[in-house]
Amino acid sequence: MQIVTEKSFQNFVHDLIAHDEREVVGVQSKGSKYVFDRLKSAEDLVLDYDVTILPPKKYFMPQREKILEYEITEDDFSVEPIVEVKPRIIIGIHPYDLVAIEQLDKIFADNYKDDNYLAKRKECVLVGVNMQEVSEWSFAGSMGTATTDSGYDLMLTELDGKYAVEIGSTKGNELLKKVSTREASSKDVDKVEKAKEDLREKFEKELNYPPEELPDLLERNYDNMEFWKKNSEECYSCASCNLVCPTCYCFDVEDLNEINMKEGERERRWDGCLLEEFAVVAGGENFRRTKAERYRHRFMRKGNYIPEKYGFIACVGCGRCGSHCIPDIADPSRIYNKLREEEQ
Ligand code: SF4
Ligand code: SF4
Repeated sequence: MQIVTEKSFQNFVHDLIAHDEREVVGVQSKGSKYVFDRLKSAEDLVLDYDVTILPPKKYFMPQREKILEYEITEDDFSVEPIVEVKPRIIIGIHPYDLVAIEQLDKIFADNYKDDNYLAKRKECVLVGVNMQEVSEWSFAGSMGTATTDSGYDLMLTELDGKYAVEIGSTKGNELLKKVSTREASSKDVDKVEKAKEDLREKFEKELNYPPEELPDLLERNYDNMEFWKKNSEECYSCASCNLVCPTCYCFDVEDLNEINMKEGERERRWDGCLLEEFAVVAGGENFRRTKAERYRHRFMRKGNYIPEKYGFIACVGCGRCGSHCIPDIADPSRIYNKLREEEQ
């Protein structure tokens, strides 16, 4: 572990913005909220934020992305895969978002390797920061994602006017060589541990039982339609809960033909299982026609389907879905707690 003063860290970010070929992205204020965006100045970087509107996932899986170009000639047809990559240094990622990125890394490298995602990931350096402020909607403390020992290249912890920096990879080590640091003392190491422990007290929301119990609980309640209907009554099918989620990765593809009908491109864009037409297939059949079925699907997927396939709960407790749902019915901690209470 290394120690860097806040001033040196700010100069370091300033130098990266001025001289590094990679795009430097960091957390910044936007009105009363926070966003990940390209940094124009080191002074704009905010490291004591609570949560960002969108997770950093958008840099590996953009909202819209061209994935191929095609051309039809008189007697032939050609297809060119497109992988657009912009190398980036992303500063200020909270541990729950790092855990979510680790989950996506596994999913996008499984069976079919998604070159568009993986190439972008490979060219990014992730600089995490331990939380100083906690969103009132977050329950990361009970999902085991409030802190993490992996998934970052560098990890910062604020310690009164300086940062403790943990190195997670050679990429991180290379980056840290650009700033003057000193070796952390045992006192500094203790302070970092204490900061992580103190964090536990800051969460207002929690899952009332170990997340490992979710798959079985959900399995038992798949057919409990009364529960899913009752809780989804006010759902607008807007999919905001999907679109702000760091672990949701569904997308749709569309071919955009040029007016000459001889060439065009294929675009993929974010999709959301709460949208009415998400499960419509050729012929017009909709596998999840009702709000209750779509609503249930999201909770099943986070707490049962993904754990069954990959072995991890696909909710990191960031709280974004809850805070963006107008009728306030999307918060997984509340719904999972309710489901469990109804069983007792
Ligand atoms: S649960 Fe809330 S955020 Fe999600 S689709 Fe329904 S209304 Fe929209
Ligand atoms: S389901 Fe909600 S709380 Fe869980 S990771 Fe997604 S946005 Fe965050």
